[in-house]
Amino acid sequence: MKWNRIVQMLAGTAALLLAANFPVSAQVAQAERPGIPGNSPIPMPAGDMSAIAKEAEGWLADLIKINTSNPPGNEQIAAMYVSGILAKEGIQAELLDTAPGRSAVVARLRSAAMADPSKALLLVAHLDTVPVDKSRWSVDPFGAVVKDGYLYGRGAIDDKGMLAANLAVFISLKRSMARLNRDVIFLATDDEETSGEASIRNLIAKHWDKFAAGFAINEGGNVFVKNGKVQYTGVQADEKVAYNIAVIARGTSGHASQPTKDNPVVHLAAAVAKIGNYSAPVRFTSIVRRYFEGLAAVEDDDIGKWMRSMETPDRGEHAQRVISDASPLWNSMMRDTIAPTVLTAGVANNVIPAEARANLNVRLLPGDTIDRVLNDLNKLVNDPQVKLELQPNAGLAAPSSSLESDFYGVISKVVAQEFGGAPALPFQSTWLTDSAQLRLHQVQAYGLVPFPLAQEDLKRMHGDDERIPLASFDKGVGVLAKIVSEFAVAH
Ligand SMILES: [Zn+2]
Repeated sequence: MKWNRIVQMLAGTAALLLAANFPVSAQVAQAERPGIPGNSPIPMPAGDMSAIAKEAEGWLADLIKINTSNPPGNEQIAAMYVSGILAKEGIQAELLDTAPGRSAVVARLRSAAMADPSKALLLVAHLDTVPVDKSRWSVDPFGAVVKDGYLYGRGAIDDKGMLAANLAVFISLKRSMARLNRDVIFLATDDEETSGEASIRNLIAKHWDKFAAGFAINEGGNVFVKNGKVQYTGVQADEKVAYNIAVIARGTSGHASQPTKDNPVVHLAAAVAKIGNYSAPVRFTSIVRRYFEGLAAVEDDDIGKWMRSMETPDRGEHAQRVISDASPLWNSMMRDTIAPTVLTAGVANNVIPAEARANLNVRLLPGDTIDRVLNDLNKLVNDPQVKLELQPNAGLAAPSSSLESDFYGVISKVVAQEFGGAPALPFQSTWLTDSAQLRLHQVQAYGLVPFPLAQEDLKRMHGDDERIPLASFDKGVGVLAKIVSEFAVAH
């Protein structure tokens, strides 16, 4: 018998055991909630989502308690938990094994016996999380602690929050026996955070037929809260492409008591300083241009004015500088960025080493080439002792998703209604997601973590004390349900 099938049999039991060990749903339900703006009651084609959102808070807490820090990931137990939740609803999920101890989960709600895969809608989230530095957390990162209306834990937002919301929406379609006009597919991926051997690339290569779709919703965009209310929703339709470059300085090793001019530590430090102070030229992709046009209308007057001036001949350059300086996100949306991240040099305090190295993490705008960046950096460093070497495992350049598709239209309309008229803006993320792989397979994939989040909470993703306001989670479940219902339920 295949391990796949054994796991499926065990999955139901695992979910029951986990539910018994983690009676969190009740605690979560009693928590205080900070208020969320734009919370107007809108009739839900999939029914009232507040009850299932409460259930989903419990699933989210349980998922946080299953440590899937990647590396090593060990997502299989989380995959079994998810398939167990689905099994209780009468939905048969399949575990797709990618590596020992690692699995993804896929499940489908059918619209017809032979539905057109190019119409299908895929709900994607990942099971793994980035690791934690426990000493820097004020609570147990895997304890799912609820405090002041927040649920704390690694993955609370990224991406177990989205996973639990997808699960709630998928299950609500099943419970309400919604008549679908297209198949809706649930996919929980593994190994997203390192994009490694067990990631969606591998899943697509081995199992594409199990989740082939024309449209997808995934992480990547956010509902941005400023001064207590939703300012805009960024719907990710494209993403930057990641590369790493090694900077290698070489010289003569020797006794530190007699310093030489060719000390590689000195040459490396000088090169890194030049690169760190360098800004690549500005280029507006069409998505970023539309983003700033829309954002200018809802920003403070002063910032809005500069945003509108960025492509004017007289004040453009100054405006670009003002906007870049105002936000690292905006800066990175309008140019290639190069961040020195790792330095390696030296063998002993009294030895001049023969070699010193640094790593540069480069994020290219879609359409730019790494050769041009390498060329520019070589000219900038201009030191024969320093070499730049492109590293393997570069990111993936994929086409952007269309801003004209029906699905993009539905997402934009629903979020504007649900968040008090705050606009939906097309968003080019500076970070990478599984959507690049999907876009390469003709999927119109959009990134939207549907929870309204302030900067204060967004910056905790991949950081310390990650948390989600439970009111935001509940609201996001409702918003996602409305998006999916409008697009996939026959009216
Ligand atoms: Zn993520």
